[in-house]
Amino acid sequence: MRPIQMVDTKQQYLAIKEEVDAAIQEVLDSTAYINGKAVQDFALQLSEYLNVRNVIPCANGTDALQIAMMALGLKPGDEVITPSFTYIATTEVVALLGLKPVFVEVDPGTFCMDPASLRAAITPRTRAIVPVHLYGHAAPMQEIMQIAAEHGLYVIEDNAQAIGCNYSFQDGSTKKTGTIGHVGTTSFYPSKNLGAYGDGGAILTNDDELALKLRMTANHGQRKKYYHEIVGCNSRLDSVQAAVLSVKLKRLDEYNAARRQVAAAYDTAFAGNNRIITPKVAPYCDHVYHQYTLVLEGVDRDGLGQYLTENKIPFMVYYPVPGHRQPVFDSFGLPPYDLKTTDWLTERVISLPVHTEMDNEQLSFITGRVLNFING
Ligand SMILES: *Cc1c(COP(=O)(O)O)cnc(C)c1O
Repeated sequence: MRPIQMVDTKQQYLAIKEEVDAAIQEVLDSTAYINGKAVQDFALQLSEYLNVRNVIPCANGTDALQIAMMALGLKPGDEVITPSFTYIATTEVVALLGLKPVFVEVDPGTFCMDPASLRAAITPRTRAIVPVHLYGHAAPMQEIMQIAAEHGLYVIEDNAQAIGCNYSFQDGSTKKTGTIGHVGTTSFYPSKNLGAYGDGGAILTNDDELALKLRMTANHGQRKKYYHEIVGCNSRLDSVQAAVLSVKLKRLDEYNAARRQVAAAYDTAFAGNNRIITPKVAPYCDHVYHQYTLVLEGVDRDGLGQYLTENKIPFMVYYPVPGHRQPVFDSFGLPPYDLKTTDWLTERVISLPVHTEMDNEQLSFITGRVLNFING
């Protein structure tokens, strides 16, 4: 059996090596290392794939969130509502910009923002909502957009984990996650569903006026070179990464289908076990399984982790400490939070390997060992 990895970027690369190598060589020959044709081509291909008017490439997914909040004109003291159960990047940029993070609950089945908790957290100072499509499952965007409209709030979708996920509205129409809110952000970190061979990110919007502000913000606040109108930053996707991403974008649907197959194998193996809760898929979306995350009931998670490690099976706990318990926010004078579902999940989740190169032998080995430990 091939060694099991959390993400097998090496095998995936080998399968497309010729095409990737040629694309990189083309960039090297062009010497247009920054903002070259490869970047423009990729941005256009991604906008077509996602069916969104504007794609603004940038340096990483954290910058994408920061640039989105800057371009929307959020001001110190403005409240931004995010789930506590997410990666730190989502809430860190809120703090970095002097905005006030407000943490809300997630649904225990989908791990995504709970609309009732969102509604209860809105105050006159709320300016924006940042739903996170966690693990590759879409947040309930129809309800979130409805709540945002009622209160005149911006919605910034953190789509770093769900690129390619389809969201269905009640009227039967569909959109890709990241293109539903006023602005969406994503990351091309190597382990993401659409991963580069270095850092990368993008900002998505159908609002052309906002797109101009986003572009300027990502580029030192200028639209004409050396004429700086607003405070910006320097955040670019390099041409080598764009060239790699163009090759991989063509295969994104295929990659996401492979992840779904892995998830289906896990679902089947764990079905009916009363100590394992498999991830739920809401009827409004198709999961792209950036992670395959179980909730364990009455299982010694540390013990399982140790057993998996002994068996050379990697695993992760995403995330061991939720936002509202991170020391970084101690100085923000946040209220004492009581987020029971988030705390409950934090103690029980475990993510198993899921990537595009897994085979049946690896899958049955993993499920066999997990069940062996849990069933005793
Ligand atoms: C990966 C990730 C980010 C940040 O992306 P980087 O490219 O690593 O900066 C933001 N939000 C979520 C939910 C992520 O998973």
